[in-house]
Amino acid sequence: MNIHEYQSKELFKEFGVAVPNGSVAKSPSEFEQAINSISGDTIVVKSQIHAGGRGKGTFADGFKGGVKLVPRAEAADTAAKMLGNTLITKQTGPSGRKVGAVYFTEANSIKHEYYLSILMDRASGKAAIVASTAGGMDIEKVAEETPEQIAKVLVDPDIGLQAFQIRKLAFFFGFGDKELQKQFKAVLGGLYKLFWTKDCSMVEVNPLILTEDGKIMALDAKVSFDDNALFRHPEIQALRDPAEEDPKEIEASRFGLNYIALDGNIACMVNGAGLAMSTMDIIKYFGGNPANFLDVGGGANEEAITQAFKILLQDEHVKGILVNIFGGIMRCDVIAAGVIAAVKNVGLKLPLVVRLEGTNVEIGRKMLADSGIKLTTADSLADAAEKIVKIVAEENK
Ligand code: ADP
Ligand code: MG
Repeated sequence: MNIHEYQSKELFKEFGVAVPNGSVAKSPSEFEQAINSISGDTIVVKSQIHAGGRGKGTFADGFKGGVKLVPRAEAADTAAKMLGNTLITKQTGPSGRKVGAVYFTEANSIKHEYYLSILMDRASGKAAIVASTAGGMDIEKVAEETPEQIAKVLVDPDIGLQAFQIRKLAFFFGFGDKELQKQFKAVLGGLYKLFWTKDCSMVEVNPLILTEDGKIMALDAKVSFDDNALFRHPEIQALRDPAEEDPKEIEASRFGLNYIALDGNIACMVNGAGLAMSTMDIIKYFGGNPANFLDVGGGANEEAITQAFKILLQDEHVKGILVNIFGGIMRCDVIAAGVIAAVKNVGLKLPLVVRLEGTNVEIGRKMLADSGIKLTTADSLADAAEKIVKIVAEENK
């Protein structure tokens, strides 16, 4: 789960990490009060979306810049142009994200921008701290082009962040001065504590800045959480912004289905993540485009299958459905019952190709044949994919 910059910065403050003063507004009526709570002649107006690259982004109506430094008198007008508008950045994809909140912050005189993040390093089973002297840039690009500008430190979770590791990174950043070391210790120590105690999958500060008057601060903040640990943190769950998530994905998670929306037109219902991946691959191989990844898992019952169908059909781009089930733990007759119930329940009009294999396959096939439902059966994965791609292509010529 991801949260907004203003929410991340509230957490930063809680953990003793310095951030510029700021105030969020979710409607124009809140602009004035928010702006008045910030000092300085220049105000930073920041669109709040769950994606980075906002500064260089463009709005759907052509207005440029999702993060702007403007004179105080122009802050409210600038915010009005952002709120409700759709911001397109390198990270949002071409459809962009609608701005539901604007964050006003004080402007800082920046001496240098750095990059600092903490994430899980699965290879070593440790937390990795990634630091770079090239802040405010795309870190993947820095890693590729100037790797010497990046330092990485692995923290053993059993031992925790050590003083020598903080010092190492402080010197890498050039914070030799005692006062800067003290500030950096508060920043990195706070970020690590946040990362660890809140079960984050990533904490990213890009840029971390050193101001002209010698302050180290987090100018931007991105925090994401491990979904599997969210049950331990109701206070974090409360920060969820459903407007930033695909409602179909939320619905699917309620039924224990693993669903990710994609932009093709062939919906897939599959059991097992590996089979789902190969099904998507083979649809592509035959020239089609999958509309989603959907793993109904090993324990899905008739109700879950019906829900899965409903979710697939909520996507208006879907022009055909491929059901590909290998019955092991999941029996083919249960899938067949689910398919029949779902089709009767939701009134399916789209072409449907079903490939069943495994436990109780004969019973399942007979149930489908006897049901009177209009569907095409297939007897291998390739056969199934080829059929649905062909049918969809023909019907949508
Ligand atoms: P994004 O990464 O989404 O583009 P940032 O919050 O990193 O958004 O802001 C983009 C850039 O805007 C920063 O790299 C920085 O140069 C500038 N900026 C942001 N906040 C401030 C601030 N408080 N004072 C001065 N410049 C700022
Ligand atoms: Mg940034």
